[in-house]
Amino acid sequence: MDECNQSGVCCKLFAINLNEKEYFSGKFKTEFEEFGIVKDFLEAEMIGANILTRLEDGSCIYLKDKICSIHKTRPQVCRGFFCNSEKEQFKDMITQINLVKQK
Ligand code: SF4
Repeated sequence: MDECNQSGVCCKLFAINLNEKEYFSGKFKTEFEEFGIVKDFLEAEMIGANILTRLEDGSCIYLKDKICSIHKTRPQVCRGFFCNSEKEQFKDMITQINLVKQK
């Protein structure tokens, strides 16, 4: 069963891309937003403007004490990922997470 063990590792390792609806909702803090919202979503994706703001250590701005501070309203990609998933599409990500956990 998919389950989050709240290690917080995935929220540090991977950039979180918002979907179109999330990006234009204005509810999330995104990279480059100080320059304004990009009106064309494809362009926003190309330049990475739809990526959640990350702190200097790479962690998501919403990660607080290893816990997602916006858990109930977190982006779709966060909802779909679990580090104990057996889905093939997550295999490489899970390998990276396990490498960090082993350190
Ligand atoms: S929004 Fe929450 S679950 Fe998604 S990366 Fe940030 S802290 Fe993690």
